[in-house]
Amino acid sequence: MIDDKSLVTRFQAELHDVALGVKLEPVVCAWVRKAGLSLWVRRDDLIDPAQSGNKFYKLFYNLKAARLAGASELVSYGGPWSNHLYALAAAARECGIPARGIVRGEQPLSLSLMLNDVQSLGMQLQFVSRSDYRHYTHGGTNVQGVDNSIYSIPEGGANLLGAAGMMAVGWALRQQIDGDFQACIACGTGTSLAGVVTGLGAGQRVLGFSVLKGAGSLGAQIHDCVVSLEGILPDSTKGVPAAGWALISGFHGGGYGRAPGVGLYQFWQDFEQETGMLLDPVYTLKLFWGIYCLAQQGYWPRGTRLVAIHTGGLQGRRGFVCPEDPLTNS
Ligand SMILES: *Cc1c(COP(=O)(O)O)cnc(C)c1O
Repeated sequence: MIDDKSLVTRFQAELHDVALGVKLEPVVCAWVRKAGLSLWVRRDDLIDPAQSGNKFYKLFYNLKAARLAGASELVSYGGPWSNHLYALAAAARECGIPARGIVRGEQPLSLSLMLNDVQSLGMQLQFVSRSDYRHYTHGGTNVQGVDNSIYSIPEGGANLLGAAGMMAVGWALRQQIDGDFQACIACGTGTSLAGVVTGLGAGQRVLGFSVLKGAGSLGAQIHDCVVSLEGILPDSTKGVPAAGWALISGFHGGGYGRAPGVGLYQFWQDFEQETGMLLDPVYTLKLFWGIYCLAQQGYWPRGTRLVAIHTGGLQGRRGFVCPEDPLTNS
């Protein structure tokens, strides 16, 4: 089997092409102007409706690896609104490998729109109790052990190849912007942040906005991931130290996946109306909410240039009741 470093070296040009094609758009909002900032968004959400944002990058090398290994099945894990399973179902169909989604919680009477979608994309669903699910995702039973032809991807695409995919976003930002800036990204497992930090290189700074209530060991995990990534960097990109990074918490809006409260909901509506750009309720809403609050507090000196990475996940909007939402009504 091909090792991670050879895999990244072999396929990175293909991924860099995609990453470089993603445009940066200015965010024109009264609060941005007032704080004297310039704020741009990297529209990775526009890559593909299903394989959008960071999930596309996190799956890229994993799918190459699965194909090279001749895998007969892709298996991964997620909740009933998982952006990761959604992207995996679409990607698996595209590369012609059957996929199985192990879903947290007993089978509901009616499937969520997301689960309906992945099922019609051909993904086989397997519902497991919450305790069994924890067993699967926290180092317990490894499906891969059962049969070597199964390629298993952790929940959220959070493995080293997943992070390696996100290095392309950091790399592209380095080509797209001259001078100093700070990149901002929503963090779940922090895998994406670690990739961006490594790809971006020294002199820049990345701020990760955690969507989890308790960040726990997130910082240590990110640190370890950056160190591991440096070990698999292609020789052509060796020698550039990683960018600096910091984790910001406090903008989780009540916790992971919680429906936004009144204030946050109002911000969501206003932001989308003002910018014409849609946000997902679980990740990117929290990211922009955090940027908004920090801008109001004067966290950044005037003149600071910020680039927010839109990691996608817009399908998740359908899980929240938004009366005027074009996605809900479609
Ligand atoms: C999965 C996801 C994230 C979190 O990515 P991590 O690599 O786990 O930190 C951020 N934004 C969106 C839209 C996602 O779907």
